[in-house]
Amino acid sequence: SPMMQHYLQTKQENPDCLLFYRLGDFYEMFYEDAETVSRELDLTLTGKECGLPERAPMCGVPYHAVETYLERLVEKGYRIAICEQMEDPKLAKGLVKREVVRIVTPGTITGEGLDDSRNNYILCAVYGDNRYGLALSDVSTGLFFVSEAPTTRDLLGEIDKYSPSEILINDAFSMSDANLSLIRDQKGFSMWTLPAAALEPENEFRMLAHFGTDRESSGLSAYPLGATAAGALFRYLQDTQKNGLEQLSRITVYPIGRYMTLDLSTRRNLELIETLREKQKKGSLLWVLDHTGTAMGARMLRNWIEQPLVNKKEILRRQDAIWELNQDLITREEIREYLRPVYDLEQLMTRIAYRTAGPRELIALGRSLSMLPHIRAQLATQKSPLLKELCEEMDPMEDLCSLIEASIAPEPPITIREGGLIRDGYHAEVDRLRQVRTRGKDWVAQMEEEERTRTGIKNLRIKYNRVFGYYLEVTNSFKDLVPEDYIRRQTLANAERYTTPRLKELEEEILGAEDRLNSLEYDLFCEVREKLAAEVVRVQNTAHAVAGLDVLASLAYAAERNHYVRPAINEKGRIDITAGRHPVIELMNRDELFVPNDTMLDQGENRVAIITGPNMAGKSTYMRQVALIVLMAQMGSFVPADAADIGICDRIFTRVGASDDLASGQSTFMVEMNEVANILRNATKNSLLILDEIGRGTSTFDGLSIAWAVVEHIADTKLLGAKTLFATHYHELTELENTLPGVQNYCIAVKEQGEDILFLRKIIPGGADRSYGIQVARLAGVPDSVLKRANEILSELRDADVAAKAKAEVTGQKDVRRREIAPDSVELGQMTLFDTANDEQIIEEISKMELASMTPIDALNALYRLQSRITNRWGDTE
Ligand code: ADP
Ligand code: MG
Repeated sequence: SPMMQHYLQTKQENPDCLLFYRLGDFYEMFYEDAETVSRELDLTLTGKECGLPERAPMCGVPYHAVETYLERLVEKGYRIAICEQMEDPKLAKGLVKREVVRIVTPGTITGEGLDDSRNNYILCAVYGDNRYGLALSDVSTGLFFVSEAPTTRDLLGEIDKYSPSEILINDAFSMSDANLSLIRDQKGFSMWTLPAAALEPENEFRMLAHFGTDRESSGLSAYPLGATAAGALFRYLQDTQKNGLEQLSRITVYPIGRYMTLDLSTRRNLELIETLREKQKKGSLLWVLDHTGTAMGARMLRNWIEQPLVNKKEILRRQDAIWELNQDLITREEIREYLRPVYDLEQLMTRIAYRTAGPRELIALGRSLSMLPHIRAQLATQKSPLLKELCEEMDPMEDLCSLIEASIAPEPPITIREGGLIRDGYHAEVDRLRQVRTRGKDWVAQMEEEERTRTGIKNLRIKYNRVFGYYLEVTNSFKDLVPEDYIRRQTLANAERYTTPRLKELEEEILGAEDRLNSLEYDLFCEVREKLAAEVVRVQNTAHAVAGLDVLASLAYAAERNHYVRPAINEKGRIDITAGRHPVIELMNRDELFVPNDTMLDQGENRVAIITGPNMAGKSTYMRQVALIVLMAQMGSFVPADAADIGICDRIFTRVGASDDLASGQSTFMVEMNEVANILRNATKNSLLILDEIGRGTSTFDGLSIAWAVVEHIADTKLLGAKTLFATHYHELTELENTLPGVQNYCIAVKEQGEDILFLRKIIPGGADRSYGIQVARLAGVPDSVLKRANEILSELRDADVAAKAKAEVTGQKDVRRREIAPDSVELGQMTLFDTANDEQIIEEISKMELASMTPIDALNALYRLQSRITNRWGDTE
């Protein structure tokens, strides 16, 4: 059929998309699309006659519920072309005209059901000259960023940072296998290769023209490949959205390295946005800091958390603003009060730009804009440069506000075709038509009265029905009195119905008024919406300023409420925290007092802290607390501590050993090692590493060896030299304090009380001497009989160790010890596995001794020291 031909042709024009083809009240899919959609959405597959022997597979979704179906398909990575009826089928002659009006893709979907607490990004990466041009956009809120990544590592960093749901790449990119496999390892986005035409310079010019800028003034001249990517992305957005994209009002060109890079697993482990286990906001850093009043502010806060700054000046600028809002409590609370009624201006403007906004959204925009003068008045008194700048960026927009106020009815309906949109007094014709409509009834009553008098028909009535409209009704008994000018319409058993030219006129007036009113109101509404759409740039800039202010006020409020302190910021790599606290745990466990702890890390003596202590002592909490304090400081926020001096870190890495890794499931050890490899490749000496029980996922000896080698690598300034907190239950690692420069031992204090232990939660210098595994098991409620048996086994193992050692000593067989003494055996405490390293050191020390310059007593002392180091190694069992 002609329709199916049109369908197939449209499908051919959009080959990579599912085609939703509008037929009446449904969107229908055919052939493979029907099969795919019915499978993915659990819809029934039917068939349609298509002229061929076999019926075409078909399935459909009702048009009014299409958004949810689209969201589900897009989430699964599909692109969907929406083909609409472009004319009323009832009025169409022949085949109804249909066109693809937009293409919905994972990275460009807009709509009500979208999670407005986060940005939805599409990223375009163009590979060339061993570099990547990058362009990113969130069309639902109007963001457009451009940059260049000099290395693949930088590209992956950006992907990590923005978590785009859709990535576009060029041919050159897709042909480089190495790139592809790297990027494919990451999950959570769909990826498409752009056609060559997308990279034509013409697209870049179009994009520049759209933003009303040129390469020079936009800053793009420094990023030619970025400009190409931006052109390609812009073209793609035009092709899919098929509208003016007015909400994309400014282009932001940024250098990579403006923000700290946090990879996905670090963000997860630190529970920045949601908790690891329950995936909920409560219990995350965002939950602690989010006291924002607007959706824009909430999104921006999230961005600040996920993208801490690395530039001291920028950090201090935010700090100054927060400080001021912190001091001036009244101003801050006024501002927060005025922010609360402000709607999501960014999303509202996108809907206005897409011409999908209804009257209620215009009212919401108007109400929101009406808060701006109040907010500005509060801001005007502030002195910090950032707040001053926000005040300037904030356009009070009184003109738009009064336009909406004057034109749109205060409580309009949801629909836009049925009138009631326009405010009384805005337009003379609207007012007149409304009068006609309401007065219509009076006029009819009046005419009825007049006709009764004129004709003398006492029971003459003017009535209305849908078929005949208005008519005069005369019962048969008064038929004789009917005047000449009445025109008969209908004869009933006991009455006749008439009309008159005047009644006809009146009827047309009344009924016509309704129609004219509805379409006039619609036109006026569209006109207002057009005017607003033209102001997208102003509103978006203001929205940006509002969001910034909201975040600053929120951070100032959190700082006050939770007793945070303003940290000093240094560029010497020193992290010095006095009485630091974990921002989340201190709020989550309110009935338990949180024990504050100090931290001292630097690029010299205190590079690597090895932290030991029994399970449940608080090692993980302590390390995360340090990472979170550093991250908060680099956001510009105040921090949970009595005092802090934070050296700017370029990256924070956190790794959690397999058995602590809650997102586990597959080969956890492999995942863990992957992540360790990633850290060792990507960390620099300015990074902060949080390594929690690395090596736990494999056998003890393997695990210990790996952990040991990792610490050696990290501590070595020639190889890495990154600041590191390393929690481990391998007590053997405490040996490294003696052998590696920059390594310090810490442990979390516990107090023995008979058979029990008490967690003091205090971090102190030195290694833990015991694991207290059995005591912890007792705390956890393991039955006494089991504990008793465990104690027996423990002492048997201990005796076995002693026997093995004794034997080894006699026979000189070191390897016996190696096999039989578990490194974890608590009582030995000291290193037994890696004594060759120690031996070598002792030999080296002996060879370095300058015997000629030593007094006999010196020599004796040296000998004594060496001997005691050897005997110590054998433990205190001798
Ligand atoms: P570990 O990693 O040593 O096994 P965790 O860091 O998981 O121990 O801490 C165990 C529990 O102890 C946490 O759930 C937390 O509630 C509590 N805790 C940890 N540190 C502190 C502290 N400084 N003050 C109060 N409670 C703490
Ligand atoms: Mg732990």
